[in-house]
Amino acid sequence: MQPSVLPDNTLVATGLNRRQFLGAALGSACVLTLGGLAHPAQAAAPIVLPPLPYADDALAPVISAQTLGFHYGKHHKGYVDTLNRLIANTELEGQPLEKIILAVAGKADKAALFNNAAQIWNHSFYWNSLRPKGGGEPPAALKQRIEVSFGSVDALRKELVNASLTQFGSGWAWLVADGDKLRVVKTANAELPLTAGLKPLLTIDVWEHAYYLDYQNRRADYANALVDKLLNWEFALQNLG
Ligand code: MN
Repeated sequence: MQPSVLPDNTLVATGLNRRQFLGAALGSACVLTLGGLAHPAQAAAPIVLPPLPYADDALAPVISAQTLGFHYGKHHKGYVDTLNRLIANTELEGQPLEKIILAVAGKADKAALFNNAAQIWNHSFYWNSLRPKGGGEPPAALKQRIEVSFGSVDALRKELVNASLTQFGSGWAWLVADGDKLRVVKTANAELPLTAGLKPLLTIDVWEHAYYLDYQNRRADYANALVDKLLNWEFALQNLG
């Protein structure tokens, strides 16, 4: 299944592509097989809130310690706590996060599971998409790829800000690899590029909780400052592989 992308670059949830479907199906089969074996009783490992990769004041003044503290300590942690409650004593308990996301994506009766699992993934990816003293020029290998797809790094910066501004309501702006091409896409709520077979390189959280304490309704100021001063190009290059 090809990812479905609207003319304004919004990814639309269409379920899984064939490779991911097979992967998810295989995962389910493994669970069933393991469930049939006589393993000693063992508590399944819960999904863990990963540590922030920097201090909560490290991104100030673009993102204040107060915003980061609430965003990580309340929102991100809340998704982890809720997901662990939702998967307790189900076949998803003990499964890796990505496997849980792909297993429930596109299933209307699993929306709460998907939303919480995907938001955990998105936030962990977002923290790593930022770094103190970020922004500036990407490493040469990434810059060359950006220039092929966007013409210039400035053009990519503009597209990322534009995607952040035009995502109506809550969601995410992403730099992704679509095969050899780099693209900017946006997703609503908890949706993420993984389910469309795209490789995420960087993300910007445009939920109001990401910026409202610092910028109130000025999403453009948040997006511009983040793109100019915090983007972690090294992380994007690492994801590009
Ligand atoms: Mn958030």
